[in-house]
Amino acid sequence: MSSTPELQHTLAKSTSLSGTSLHTGEKVTLRLQPAPVDHGIKFKRKDLQDEPTIDATIENLKTVERATTIGEGAMRVHTVEHVLAALCAMGVDNAVIEMDANEPPIGDGSAQLYVEVIKKGGVVAQEKARRTFAVREPIHIETKGGSLMVVLPDEKYRISCTQVGPAGRFSQFLSTEITPAVFEREIAPARTFVFYEDVQPLMEKNLIKGGSLENAIVVRGDAVLSKEPLRFPDEFVRHKILDIIGDLALFGPRIRGHVIAVKPGHGPNAELARALMKEHAKTMPAIQPRAFPPGEGGLDINQVMDILPHRFPFLMVDRIVGFEGESKITGVKSVTINEPYFIGHFPGHPVMPGVLQVEAMAQVASILMMKITKSASRIGYFISADDVKFRKPVFPGDTLFIHAELTKARSNRLAKAKCHCIVNDAVVSEGELMFTFL
Ligand SMILES: [Zn+2]
Repeated sequence: MSSTPELQHTLAKSTSLSGTSLHTGEKVTLRLQPAPVDHGIKFKRKDLQDEPTIDATIENLKTVERATTIGEGAMRVHTVEHVLAALCAMGVDNAVIEMDANEPPIGDGSAQLYVEVIKKGGVVAQEKARRTFAVREPIHIETKGGSLMVVLPDEKYRISCTQVGPAGRFSQFLSTEITPAVFEREIAPARTFVFYEDVQPLMEKNLIKGGSLENAIVVRGDAVLSKEPLRFPDEFVRHKILDIIGDLALFGPRIRGHVIAVKPGHGPNAELARALMKEHAKTMPAIQPRAFPPGEGGLDINQVMDILPHRFPFLMVDRIVGFEGESKITGVKSVTINEPYFIGHFPGHPVMPGVLQVEAMAQVASILMMKITKSASRIGYFISADDVKFRKPVFPGDTLFIHAELTKARSNRLAKAKCHCIVNDAVVSEGELMFTFL
């Protein structure tokens, strides 16, 4: 894991290019403008009244037919994927994409023009760390059309893609890390390709006015028709990777993970971007440390230590955030990299030991027991732990919610509690504990 956080980047200066938009055939000028930290990527429609802007985020996704369209209200921006892919892969986090039409210029159907315009503007570091999402458990989506997209944990952003043409024609595979250098050299030059049988009806309906062999490769039967020869023998799968980068850019944070895509397309790509967003939301801290004031509803750390005799490094609860009647209690433990056990459990791969989660459950349950029997500072001893299950690993940065419910309290000497720990809405461990008090 790298110790220096990557910084956000924007353009050094504004820069522009002109061209034709694919679907309307209109002339369009696109200008890339620098933007402050945490701004993200936004499109600005200069041709509309009040020049509305729209965030290039998955929440604003509207359609995925042939190209990726975002919108808000009646406003639309079509075919956002190539310019977004270039900005993302070239390391630009914050920018305004100003346009005087509803679609960026198509150029030659690749992202080369955008790489050039970004390099012309220059990319500069900003003063704040970049948002990244390190995938920690496999994420996957599958579609009815036979597309499969998986993201596995990885230190880098990698894409392994299998492109499958109609009837298995032009099936291609490529696996690569995505860096600015790799993108510029290996991915950006790859052009849009279409199968003749797919575009023929659109051409008849006049739906792709700007389309021509100037900006797409057309495959008819086994023949490849294009203005210039193929730029790579596997140009198609490279363009698929380009589209994946652009569509996943709508997710927002930088991805640290290995995307494995079989038969990708704008639809499956967008679905994966949504799945990433869902997973990422789960890893956001579930509570702010100050969100639960001490008092009626809970106990702060000093009140916890008045009740429990445990001390560093064995106090496994930071705060009690709530009681429910006389039988239920919820405690919170923020798991940080400073926990002493992470030094050895395990070097380079810190995971909270499951037995310490059981200890946390016992401590939280004893707080409830001692509170209701008004007998603080006694020591609870385990008699048994049944049905203990560890379901998911707990990592530094996680907030452990420890729930305990007293199921049996005989006299004030013996108690039984059903407990479970939750991280990001998922049960990570559970067990039924029995203890006695001395
Ligand atoms: Zn494309």
